[in-house]
Amino acid sequence: MNGDGVRILVIEDEEPLRMALVDALRAEGFAVLEAGDGETGLALALSEGPDVVLLDLMLPRRDGFSVLRALREDRLTAAVIILSARGEEWDRVQGFEYGADDYVVKPFSTRELLLRIRAVLNRADGRTPGLDVEGGKVRVGEAVIDFAAYTVTRDGERHGLSRRELDLLRYLIEHDGETVERGRLLEDVWGKDEYPTTRTIDTHVLKLRKKLERNPESPRHIVTVHGVGYRFSRRG
Ligand code: CA
Repeated sequence: MNGDGVRILVIEDEEPLRMALVDALRAEGFAVLEAGDGETGLALALSEGPDVVLLDLMLPRRDGFSVLRALREDRLTAAVIILSARGEEWDRVQGFEYGADDYVVKPFSTRELLLRIRAVLNRADGRTPGLDVEGGKVRVGEAVIDFAAYTVTRDGERHGLSRRELDLLRYLIEHDGETVERGRLLEDVWGKDEYPTTRTIDTHVLKLRKKLERNPESPRHIVTVHGVGYRFSRRG
């Protein structure tokens, strides 16, 4: 794959790193935009609508989380990969909560970053056919999922969804009433080019439940089938 037509915005204040990223991405054929602070980065993202945003967290003028939140509130569907410093465990969780698609930990290799970029781009292309939810809204119990806005709204509260959470949810909705094995979820939602563990699935399910279910401790929509996987029910 070359970068034809794919536009990447790099928001990173550390100049040597930003320049190295821009060079490496251009060498791969991507069209690259860059910003050295959060405010400029957000403005560029909103005006240019890039396909992928590489987002540092510690930024002058507006921090990475604030940029991410603003992007999702503005319904920007770009894939966001967070460039995080080592060991920012809290940040990682927070990043996914706010709708990041992936993250890499500094220092990272160009190769690793390119793999992640390709993975998020492939996920965006490989939309599951057969369910016309693209751009639409789907009701699950008391919650409304907006597939275009990457959000779930329940009891007047709106939560952001990462692209992966949305893919998982879409898959579950398509298999309403079926018991889906974890292995199948790994293969169909994550794909065989990636190596998530079954724990990854469980973590995503927990996050989805918090946003979707009135009582996440005793879920009605995403029910655990012990030793097997999950069963989804739209009505609950
Ligand atoms: Ca920084």
